[in-house]
Order: sequence, then structure tokens, then C-alpha cells
Amino acid sequence: MKRVAVAGFFHESNTFATTPTTYADFEQVSLTFGKELIDRWSGGNHEISGFLQWAKENNEIEIVPLLAAFAMPSGTIVAETFESIANQMEKALRESLPLDGLYLALHGATVSKDFPDADGEIAKRMRQIVGPDIPTVMTLDLHANVSTKMVENTDATMIYRSNPHLDQKDRGLEAGELMGRTLKNEIRPVQAVEYPPLIINIAKQYTDELPAKGLYDDLQSVLEWPGILSASVAMGFSYSDVEEMGATFLAVADNDPELARKAARWMAQRAWDNREEFQVNLPKADEAVSMAIQAIEAPIVLLDIGDNVGGGGPGDSTVVLEQIVKQNASNALVVLFDPEAVNACVKAGVRNGVSIEVGAKTDERHGTPVSISGVVRLISDGIFVEPEVRHGGWGSFDQGITAVVETSEKNTVILTSTKMCPVSLEQIKSLGIKPETKKILVAKGVIAPRAAYNPVAGRTILVDTPGATCANPESFEYQNRRSSLFPLESDVLYEVE
Ligand SMILES: [Zn+2]
Repeated sequence: MKRVAVAGFFHESNTFATTPTTYADFEQVSLTFGKELIDRWSGGNHEISGFLQWAKENNEIEIVPLLAAFAMPSGTIVAETFESIANQMEKALRESLPLDGLYLALHGATVSKDFPDADGEIAKRMRQIVGPDIPTVMTLDLHANVSTKMVENTDATMIYRSNPHLDQKDRGLEAGELMGRTLKNEIRPVQAVEYPPLIINIAKQYTDELPAKGLYDDLQSVLEWPGILSASVAMGFSYSDVEEMGATFLAVADNDPELARKAARWMAQRAWDNREEFQVNLPKADEAVSMAIQAIEAPIVLLDIGDNVGGGGPGDSTVVLEQIVKQNASNALVVLFDPEAVNACVKAGVRNGVSIEVGAKTDERHGTPVSISGVVRLISDGIFVEPEVRHGGWGSFDQGITAVVETSEKNTVILTSTKMCPVSLEQIKSLGIKPETKKILVAKGVIAPRAAYNPVAGRTILVDTPGATCANPESFEYQNRRSSLFPLESDVLYEVE
């Protein structure tokens, strides 16, 4: 039996978000050790689930589960938390030796106080323990800012190809397949990475539509090249102020570094040639709400880009709600993270009136608290289950004690005690609300909500709101990024020889 260790460390770190990420944030979402990891992740849609499924179907592999840590996207991870999780992972790996292979499920945009390239640091430490000859396969999120340190400390990298992320399990299966063939000495994976000086705007990262779809058409054609084992595009995460921030192209070839390099460069050059297509000009909140009120279709889904919970937004921005109130919109639905307001509703009790200030309590950058008056329609435990494949690969969710307020203006405000990325309509439906009957649905995200919201959306409008996940990279003061990046610098050159 070949022994393959599995470890996961998952955090999308928004270095512009004000709330740091602590150990408790991982405990709250998912932190599993040893066999717990297998129990937690078997049968799901995550890449770890895919890798475990591959191992199960391949009787020659024994999985050695180490640790898997997940936290909601938020600010930089505090130094002690990173060290604690990394040290536990390293210790578990040391105790598991000897091994035949190592699978690392990482995010690629994880930043800790001491390590801007936290994923690269994890890969380096783990590689040092197993040694350079043990095949090490890594999967990353499509929003990775891929570093050379990550790539130098692994043999093959696979990145999600779908945004919203619906192919995570497939990437885990692919990682398993590649591991299996490597362990049988059928192949010898080598990889190359290419960095065009390009930011792909978050609003142009929807893989079902051009221009993003074109990147994946190119990727598919690279997969046809003889000798290519895998190919990936990382669209990057512009809310991490790190040196590697930006788009990355990666290819894995069979014992042919030059072929891998050629494939990565070919994809990068084609993306660069289309660079103008990856930039945006979107309506602000006032214009978007006005468009929604006047629209014939319903519901209109307003995607609140500046408060993208899946990108580290606080989940309590009132910028769109302020406009809904100001422009007298009705039959709108807004979800806000606001434990204080939930408590006030619990105190008032179901069927009773409340007058409360909601939202904008995390910081000063996401609007100001909005006064609402209405009736508490429901208090819920906030637990819901999503049966379909949705962004993130999760099936069960907990948004904490949740209150539903029907306001005097006939709008619905859902108040949650835990931040929740709007990847599942069950977040709303489990509260007895029919989203398809609403005129306006506000979702705090950009691409992640679409798999859930597209089936009910009459139309979807991307809204250029301010905040920790603002669409415009020019609104951030970067200290650490590469000095030349389009479109932040317009006179950037990129020539591949
Ligand atoms: Zn992502």
C-alpha cells in the first residue's frame, strides 16, 4: 500500500479588511485532525472530497489524514494562529513518516502577519519534512496569487477552472489521478508558471461568459498538447497586498520543463493581448437601485461588490440598503451580518414591532447604520442545508441566530449573527421566504452567488460599491505588489520571447 498524506489550509486573506483572522475563526468554520478529516470531507463537493474519493476507488492507496483548517475570508491571519496551525500540520506530517506522497489543499491567497505568502511557506515547510523526492501535489483556489515558492515546493498544481467554484471535486479527483500515475512511475510531472503584469478585474471573472471564458477555452486547447498533464489559470486576488498579486498561468508537463513553460506562456500572452477586456465600468449604488426599480424583469439581483463576503467583506455594508430606503423601493430583500440587531429582535420577540439601527458596524468604509422599523416575522437557528453543488463545495451552513424583519416599507431585512457568503438560496428559503417573489435581491458577492441566484434572477446587475472588496483596484493603497501591473500602470510592457 502506498501511503499518501492529506493536509488542507484554507483562507482567502483580504489584507485591506480590518478584522484579523484568529484561531477561533478556524474553529468556528472547520478544523479537523486525523481521522476526523476523512469523516468531515468524504462524500462532499470539495477538492479534499474528490481526492479522498480517488483514494477510495484506488485500492492501492492508504490516506494518511493530517489536518484541515478552514476559515471565512477575512483579514490577515494573526501570527500565532498561523504558527499554531502550521506547527500542528508539520508535527502530524513528521509523525506520519515514511510516506509515498503528499497532497496539499491550499487556497493560494492566504496571508499571515509574518508570511505574505503563507501558502508558499506551508508548502516549503511540508516539503522539507517529506524531502524533495516524495511526489507533492497541490490544489489551489481560482483566486490564488501563485508564488514561485508554492510552485518550487510542489511537483504539480491544479487550480479550479470554474467561477463560481463548481469543479472543486473534479480538481481533487484530477490531483488524485496525477498522484496515482506518478506513484506508479508512469509520469514525472514538472510545472512552470508565468506572470503577465495583469489584473483581471473581479467583475470579469465569471467563467461562463467572455472574456473569462476565453481563458478556459485556451486552457482546454493546451490540455490537448502532447505531453501536457494539466493546465491552470489563477485569476488572482487583488485584495491581498502581496508581491504575487495578479493573474497567473501554470502548466504541468510530463518530464519536460520547456513544454510546461511554453504552454504557460502561450496562455499568458493570449490573456495579455485581451487585457482591455478584463477591465470594467459599473453603475454605483444609486444608479443600480434606480435601474432595479424601473426594470420590468424581477427579481433584479444587485451584486454588492464592495461588500463581497466571499472576498473578505464585512457582510454589513448598508450602501445599497441606504439607496433602497432613499429611493422608496419596496419588496426588496437584504441580508446583513449584525448580531447586535439580532439580539434586539430576539428581545422584542416574534410578531412584535422593532425600531433598530442595522448594519455598518464593522468599520467606517461600508456605509452608515440604517434605521428600520417593522415587525419581527421570524427568529431562526440559522442552520440550513444546500443539496446542489454550489461555490465552495459546502453542503451544510450555519449563519447563527437569525432574525427576519418585515419593514414598514414592505422590505425584508434578514439579520444574521455570523457572516455568511451568499452561495445558497437556502439561506433565504429556509426562513420561509420565496426569493422569486421579490423585486430586488441584494447579494453580497460578485461571482460566487451566481450558481444559486441565476435560476431565479430576472436580471443581474453588478454594483460598484465602496468597501474592502471594491471593484476598482485603484481605490486601494498597495505597498507590496509588483510595481508594474495593468491597468494600475498603463504603460506596462509584456513580451515573451
Ligand atoms: Zn475563489
